[in-house]
Amino acid sequence: MSGISDSFQRPISYLRVSVTDRCNLRCVYCMPAGGVPLAPRSEILSYEEIATVVRVAAGMGVSKVRISGGEPLVREGLAGLVRMISQIAGVDDVALTTNGVLLKEQASELAKAGLRRVNVSLDTLKRERFKEITGYDRLSDVLEGIEEAQKADLRPIKVNMVVMRGVNDDELVDFALLSREGWNVRFIELMPLVNGGGEHREFVPASEIRARISSLGELLACAPPLGNGPASYYQLPGASGTVGFIAPVSEHFCFKCNRLRLSADGKLLPCLLADEEVDLRPVLRGDASAGEIRNLILEAVASKPQGHRVMQGVVPRKRWMTQVGG
Ligand code: SAM
Ligand code: SF4
Repeated sequence: MSGISDSFQRPISYLRVSVTDRCNLRCVYCMPAGGVPLAPRSEILSYEEIATVVRVAAGMGVSKVRISGGEPLVREGLAGLVRMISQIAGVDDVALTTNGVLLKEQASELAKAGLRRVNVSLDTLKRERFKEITGYDRLSDVLEGIEEAQKADLRPIKVNMVVMRGVNDDELVDFALLSREGWNVRFIELMPLVNGGGEHREFVPASEIRARISSLGELLACAPPLGNGPASYYQLPGASGTVGFIAPVSEHFCFKCNRLRLSADGKLLPCLLADEEVDLRPVLRGDASAGEIRNLILEAVASKPQGHRVMQGVVPRKRWMTQVGG
């Protein structure tokens, strides 16, 4: 299959799809406590419309699709979308990013529909703190969801922790130790709140996170390197699981960015941390041919910036993280 590359010779093979801007949590770094203005339901792409975009993108070389949100599991019938996408020729990996609250009920059905892997966002192992960070007392649901996903063979499960100084950074070692119990834990640098700017004062650079975890023993780089995404993976001595670091801010990996994002309301975003977007919805709702959709995808790829400019204080203002899918 012929693939596409952007203006900086980066091959584009990965599409992240946000299926909803709604969420059942209110993580402090993602959404204000009062929520964000939601798109009217009529503006949210149907599963058929999403599948149409994925089909055209797959014909252009996209082989990996990740479903995200908002919280994707709050949208009804998600397994139906997973089934449609997993049957598209050229797509060989369908994955999900979720807060895990509803995973217990849905893991088995999603796996049967063709979901391969799941990433669960979990920032603390402490019940009270979970409530403070997310606004809800749902830690036990998330932990049960992870167990159920393991039973459904949605592997490898990756647990993503957004590290915040003075909020949860005292749990770095506890999370890293979970890799000795077979967990794959990834530490993510806090990004400035999309749309809010914010002071970003809780940011902890990956270099510091790594140094603090090294107190447990030498971190051995996984060989061969795992995945082709933004994370670098290591193992603690004797651990069967891995410890990963994602440093979008301090060590940005834009040079190897292979992704596009489709927002729940049908905008194609070439970069998470920039405001450019290409609107697919009018074309999807008209009599669009695959060729027209393809041209819009090419337009988005052509406008992919060389890198984000967060360190220079440039942050996206148009959208919230829940609308973009992380
Ligand atoms: N609701 C799902 C979840 O939480 O996994 C999917 C959507 S969420 C927007 C996707 C990812 O973005 C999550 O792993 C979340 O931790 C991450 N995220 C959201 N805001 C962030 C921020 N300001 N900095 C770093 N990661 C962030
Ligand atoms: Fe919801 Fe995920 Fe954002 Fe938390 S990170 S508010 S779970 S969309």
